[in-house]
Amino acid sequence: KARIFRFGNRTADGSKDMKNLLGGKGANLAEMSRIGIPVPPGFTITTEVCTEYNRLGKEKLIDILRPEVREGVEHVEKIMGSRYGDPGNPLLLSVRSGARKSMPGMMDTVLNLGLNDEVVAGLIKKTGNDRFVWDSYRRFIQMYGSVVLGMKPDSKEENDGFEEIIEKLKEKRNIQLDTEFGVEDLKELVSDFKEIVKKKTGKSVPADPWEQLWDATMAVFDSWNGKRAVYYRNMHGYPSDWGTAVNVQAMVFGNMGDSSATGVCFTRDAGSGENVFNGEYLMNAQGEDVVAGVRTPQQITKLGSQRWAELARVDEKERREVYPSLEELLPDLYRELDEYQQKIEDHYRDMQDMEFTIQEGRLWILQTRDGKRTGTAMIKIAVDLLKEGKISEKEAILRIEPMKLDELLHPVFDKAALSKAHVIAQGLPASPGAATGQIVFFADEAHKFKNSILVRIETSPEDLEGMNLARGILTARGGMTSHAAVVARGMGKCCVSGAGSLNIDYKSREMRAGGKVYHEGDWISLNGSTGNILEGKVATVEPELSEDLAELLEISDQFAKMKVRTNADTPKDAEAARNFGASGIGLTRTEHMFFGHERIKAMREMILADSPNGRKRALRELLPMQRADFEGIFEAMQGLPVTIRLLDPPLHEFVPHELTQQKELANEMHISVKQVKNKVDELREFNPMLGHRGCRLGNTYPEITEMQARAILEAALNLKEKGIEVKPEIMIPLVGTVSEFILQEQIIRETAETVFTERESRVEFQIGTMIEVPRAALTAAEIAKHAEFFSFGTNDLTQMVYGFSRDDIGKFLPVYYEKGILAGDPFEAIDQEGVGQLIRIGIENGRKTKPGLKIGICGEHGGEPSSIEFCYKAGMDYVSCSPFRVPIARIASAQAAI
Ligand code: PEP
Ligand code: MG
Repeated sequence: KARIFRFGNRTADGSKDMKNLLGGKGANLAEMSRIGIPVPPGFTITTEVCTEYNRLGKEKLIDILRPEVREGVEHVEKIMGSRYGDPGNPLLLSVRSGARKSMPGMMDTVLNLGLNDEVVAGLIKKTGNDRFVWDSYRRFIQMYGSVVLGMKPDSKEENDGFEEIIEKLKEKRNIQLDTEFGVEDLKELVSDFKEIVKKKTGKSVPADPWEQLWDATMAVFDSWNGKRAVYYRNMHGYPSDWGTAVNVQAMVFGNMGDSSATGVCFTRDAGSGENVFNGEYLMNAQGEDVVAGVRTPQQITKLGSQRWAELARVDEKERREVYPSLEELLPDLYRELDEYQQKIEDHYRDMQDMEFTIQEGRLWILQTRDGKRTGTAMIKIAVDLLKEGKISEKEAILRIEPMKLDELLHPVFDKAALSKAHVIAQGLPASPGAATGQIVFFADEAHKFKNSILVRIETSPEDLEGMNLARGILTARGGMTSHAAVVARGMGKCCVSGAGSLNIDYKSREMRAGGKVYHEGDWISLNGSTGNILEGKVATVEPELSEDLAELLEISDQFAKMKVRTNADTPKDAEAARNFGASGIGLTRTEHMFFGHERIKAMREMILADSPNGRKRALRELLPMQRADFEGIFEAMQGLPVTIRLLDPPLHEFVPHELTQQKELANEMHISVKQVKNKVDELREFNPMLGHRGCRLGNTYPEITEMQARAILEAALNLKEKGIEVKPEIMIPLVGTVSEFILQEQIIRETAETVFTERESRVEFQIGTMIEVPRAALTAAEIAKHAEFFSFGTNDLTQMVYGFSRDDIGKFLPVYYEKGILAGDPFEAIDQEGVGQLIRIGIENGRKTKPGLKIGICGEHGGEPSSIEFCYKAGMDYVSCSPFRVPIARIASAQAAI
């Protein structure tokens, strides 16, 4: 079986469909080569080799790999007309990671492999450009030192040793930019770099090019299990056995002088989704200069450059002279790049994020990948590609990551509050959104405040975890393609980058701007859509659904076979859900209605009453309140189906547990504190979640069921009088045996007849059950003889199937993740293997008794895409989820059916 796959010169061993084996980068390099895009030639070592490496270790693997890698290098040598390690005519190589899914910056890269003192001399002779050669050499030692030999800064407040040396030399020479270093300076850097590597790591950069290549390759494999990569993988649920591929490729140089450049570009706007080619580049630089944000990158297009200048407050003359766009500076190369980006996007039929290098007037494309994008951009791009006829409706739906819609439903700044806020400084709108929080300067301190804003000169992949925790990210350096910007957009996190007027001092933990000093813990706000940095907290409001999203949701409804209902306990929630397109209510938890001040009093009276009559008296007080609640909900849903569940939680949740409250209650009820206390003690349970709750309440206190049934049906009759037809679905919780159901059903039917006789009018209604006790799932055939619908309560079902308390799992879950006992939280995504079996049994047996039995889910899983797919496959008619998950579930339901 082949371990390496070659590419270059318009041919390739691999293709874009081989991402699992070649990684995303390798597969796309092969594909680009095939379609005639100029990529530097190279070869990909497969992801399977990464797994082999972890099993066999370095020495054994190199033995196995040697012949094929030699062949690969020869392939590159032939195309490039130079030889690796030959001082007379040297070829230099790069080694880059590349997993199945792009993990920007999470793994390692080493450039300029093949350099040593001898090769440096040879390369100078060959190119006649000693500045470029020495610049490449110092970069090589810097990169090799940190990536392969593991050199690190002494503390987080410090720069790494290399930066320190660079800064000192700049000071000595009185210069600002790396590009101003002369040849002698670069030589000095090389020598100082070698020394500090030796001092800090005890090792030297090897002179043997093959030793360099092997060590760099293994370092890239190792980075798959590095801290950053593991965190990123866990965040996205990528399994550890995927491994990374390694791409070995001929170096092309953007730092060869004034006809050389390097850059990053996007075929569409990754923030807004707008169909405009955009990106950034730097003349006479290597790739890492653009993403690291050390120099201010220039815009690729003229339009982009003008937009940037406006935000950066740079006037037109300065823009044209100091920061011209590639389109203006090198029009021919720009046109060529524009042609390639169009060709590549058309080929992939999705927004691409590309890297390119211009070496002495020749353009090379180094990589392409589906671009990370915000939720807004995800929607707009899918809708636009559909309108452009590039993708089908089905594809447009499949392009949506449902959970990413969550971003679009996040609050935005209130316009009025925004206009009054004081603008501290202005940066680039790197990732849209509104964030308010307290300043922290270090990623590993992002947890210091509940809402933090991570403020950095620039971010690095090490900061990932902190960036994820922070509400927003602010950097002083770096453009729209900097690490911070790319990662933030991928996370859907608000980010303002490149706010050059900020002066950030890590040592004193201060940020200076506009003559003011801001300290750690001070509140600031970021507007990721304009790049404004604002003082203090700024009020936010709920966002509205965009037209594009509404359109996509409508399309998805045509494909979806499973309906999406909502869990809503108030008319307000019900209305919000209806605006998001809910097709009914799948669960109204009536207990939430009892917590208001007046109601809890009546509720407590009911609980404390010693006789059925006492209880009935209290329930009579509650009846009109409940009836009004239901009327509100029915009205909000305008005839759509509404499932109302009878009282579920253990009664002890309603009684006061503190002495002062107990005294208050005793006073109000004119009974002794002792009586109250006794009742509270009486209700105490060892396992309340397995205790006196659910239909066990209704079966011990039938008056409660009677009151609730009356409230529901009277409310329905009242609406009928107003011309709104409602067909309530009354749901009995926590049924485990059919007799529990039958007794409740009797009470409801008797109550209904009484109410209908009193009112001389009738409504249709159904009585169904939750399936949330394992026994109910197992005896579904029997229960279905009586129940008119099933709704799986997967919260309790998961709790009882695993025996994990749903309220306490957080205590041991992190350890379970760490030890690999659980891969995910079973309360978030359905455990298809275990809980899923019971669901399948329940559905199958229920429908054996009653074909066409209506079945849904109302546990939290009903809004989680992988669980929604499972529910569809299991044959459910609907899922029900919280209002803000409704759009997510509509897309996920369509995706399941496609
Ligand atoms: C369930 O158990 O899944 C459910 C929906 O009910 P609750 O969360 O109210 O217990
Ligand atoms: Mg439940």
